[in-house]
Amino acid sequence: MSLKSSPPECRPNRRDALAALVIAAAALVIALSFYYDNAPAGSASVQVSVSVGGRVEDFSSLSRYAGVHTYSCNGYTLTVSCDGAEVQVVSSTCPGQDCVHTGAVSKAGQSIVCLPARIVIRLTGGAADLTVG
Ligand SMILES: [Zn+2]
Repeated sequence: MSLKSSPPECRPNRRDALAALVIAAAALVIALSFYYDNAPAGSASVQVSVSVGGRVEDFSSLSRYAGVHTYSCNGYTLTVSCDGAEVQVVSSTCPGQDCVHTGAVSKAGQSIVCLPARIVIRLTGGAADLTVG
């Protein structure tokens, strides 16, 4: 393969068009990054893991988990609500109500535990914690 003399065509118009395209693309990336900065914190990467009686019943992203879920174990029933950004136990038949009092969780690493019902709602994020049996 020999380097043939490539025609030294320096067309300013074409270069300007390319530069404009690059600038437009960069502007789009910046605009998108601003958009995502303003989006609900970390909702895209946080995952919900719900363990009932030691078994994982639900495992999905926070946004896909949105809705109302009920879990029953050990004679108790928990009602869990998720709006796509945070999860909380809205009602429970357990005696202590600790799970209800925990309130809403939205960040990876947070969890809601109901000891009497043996239900654990855990938020995980990224590749940090994927130890799900
Ligand atoms: Zn509870």
